Amino acid sequence: MDFFARLHADFDAPIAAFDCGEKCAPYNPGGRPFCCDPRHAVPPLYREEWAYLQSVAPGVWQPWEGETPEITAALQAETPDGQVLAVCRGPEHCAAQRPYRSVTCRAFPFYPYLNREGDFLGLAYYWQYADRCWLISNLHVVSAEYVAQFVCAYERLFARYPEERETYRYHSIIARRVFGRRHQEIPLLHRAGGAYWVRPRDGRLRAADPRDFPKYGVYAIAAEMPFPDET
Ligand code: SF4
Ligand code: SF4
Repeated sequence: MDFFARLHADFDAPIAAFDCGEKCAPYNPGGRPFCCDPRHAVPPLYREEWAYLQSVAPGVWQPWEGETPEITAALQAETPDGQVLAVCRGPEHCAAQRPYRSVTCRAFPFYPYLNREGDFLGLAYYWQYADRCWLISNLHVVSAEYVAQFVCAYERLFARYPEERETYRYHSIIARRVFGRRHQEIPLLHRAGGAYWVRPRDGRLRAADPRDFPKYGVYAIAAEMPFPDET
């Protein structure tokens, strides 16, 4: 069986018990979930994944092109070798194209967090999306099954593409710098279950209640309202 066919099949658990896109889309002009809107996020696909998806679902993914050649070139220059920036047919088709979602779609808003020693500890979020992604402000809804599948998927990706481990180790270093400058700890969903605060200075883990993790942007305002669960 194709590597990505199996990986996709085994990384298919919903991130939460409901569609979090319904939570963020109302705040995005045009009504798309932010992570499915190329104005905000363009998923990179592994070349091997791209080839697999082109063979089983031609037409679902197209190469991404920015509004200008300069924009396209700039984002491609930031994309690791061996990955292709792509766009799907859009969230209105996502129920039908769900089996063909990329690893990036499945993982968002998380990346695999590695400590200083290079151990893959669990899931941390791409802080750059904290103002838009509802889920980042509500990590308590993330299911244990999703966390387990995420960890398994990235263990397999690291075995196949060892350079990816280094990419995320470096990304985790940047995360520690960014949060350290803010004098904040990094929220972590641990691979063994449970939630933790990671102290950027020395990597110390402190058990957390995920409901205490920070809320951002409109979601912070909504959480202060009398019936926050209705937002
Ligand atoms: S992961 Fe975040 S940005 Fe994507 S649909 Fe869910 S809440 Fe919206
Ligand atoms: S395939 Fe689905 S989850 Fe991925 S970007 Fe498209 S609409 Fe979003």
